[in-house]
Amino acid sequence: MAASRAASETGDPLLLTPGPLTTSKSVKAVMVHDWGSRDANFVAINVAVRKRIVEIANGGSSYSAVPMQGSGTFAVEAMLTSFVPRAGKVLVLVNGAYGHRAARICAIAGRAHVVQETPEDTPPDLAKLEAALAADKGITHVFAVHCETTSGILNPLEEIAAIVARNGRRLLVDSMSAFGALPVDAAKLKFDALAASSNKCLEGVPGLGFVICRVAALDEAKGNATTLVLDLHDQWQALEKTGQYRFTPPIHVIVSLHQAIEEFLAEGGQKGRGGRYAENCRVLVGGMKALGFLTLLPDRLQAPIIVTFRMPTDPNFRFQAFYDALKERGYVIYPGKLTVADSFRIGCIGRLDADHMRGVVAAVREILAEMKVRSLAPAEAA
Ligand SMILES: *Cc1c(COP(=O)(O)O)cnc(C)c1O
Repeated sequence: MAASRAASETGDPLLLTPGPLTTSKSVKAVMVHDWGSRDANFVAINVAVRKRIVEIANGGSSYSAVPMQGSGTFAVEAMLTSFVPRAGKVLVLVNGAYGHRAARICAIAGRAHVVQETPEDTPPDLAKLEAALAADKGITHVFAVHCETTSGILNPLEEIAAIVARNGRRLLVDSMSAFGALPVDAAKLKFDALAASSNKCLEGVPGLGFVICRVAALDEAKGNATTLVLDLHDQWQALEKTGQYRFTPPIHVIVSLHQAIEEFLAEGGQKGRGGRYAENCRVLVGGMKALGFLTLLPDRLQAPIIVTFRMPTDPNFRFQAFYDALKERGYVIYPGKLTVADSFRIGCIGRLDADHMRGVVAAVREILAEMKVRSLAPAEAA
């Protein structure tokens, strides 16, 4: 049994996961009040949160942030079903579970779509994207995932955006696990909409998604939605006209996100936050490689968000026992969900710093010795 157990500011195990994440004590502490949804303070907080989100994306007056109650997927579904007209057609770039999820949303909502899939450790094929847009004039929108959290791969958003713009199509982005940590510059990146949520790199608590929308495109989106609740145009109109959500807002989550954004700005915004995560990632990957683990991705494809490690095949390495022993020491990691290789994941995001990453590597070293693991070699690639 470990002598000391790592813990967050509130004494909880550290979440080295893709979200929900470890948040600061102050982000949780602001939630101890009750507010009516028409409370003037709450309405002002709402305005500030929407404004700051647009500022983080450098959206100026051409973009508006439309929040959506629920987890991140609610925002992605709202984005796809509000922006893609019923007669539209989406090219969905898939290299992991979140791309597949977007295709499923299109299928359920009855939006025509084509999928371009690459393996989970491979970025989208840009030449193939260009060719498909040239060949099929019926494609109105392209959907891309910024950091595909399934593997932790960084997809080439700038290049994708340039191809989509050059071909006169519209871009929809799932930047859920990247927004706040990796640069998103709406002035350079031509997107109609980009979805993210409260509980990833902004380090808020879960319960609110949001979509950063190009106002001109949002204006055109009236009547597209196929559900009442996920209609971003309607939600936007209500917020602009009345300052109110159409349906009960997750008030505590929003007040907490406001505090989280204050802390984000105090840390130096995207540069500061992204810099801390990059250092976390560097320490984690360096430490784990020194122990003998292999990462799924080469460094050039690795986003500083979550790292996939190949599962060792040594019979003494049993993942559940490894997971439990880490949890015992205060570190919660994440199983893999890859189809290309057996793996597990360790996240770099949330209220964690380089010392926490050194701590998890030290704990891994101890546990491997206890388990008498001799080799960390993964299975040969099939
Ligand atoms: C976390 C995440 C989502 C949203 O997942 P929820 O469980 O609905 O919050 C969507 N896309 C990506 C890439 C994510 O990392």
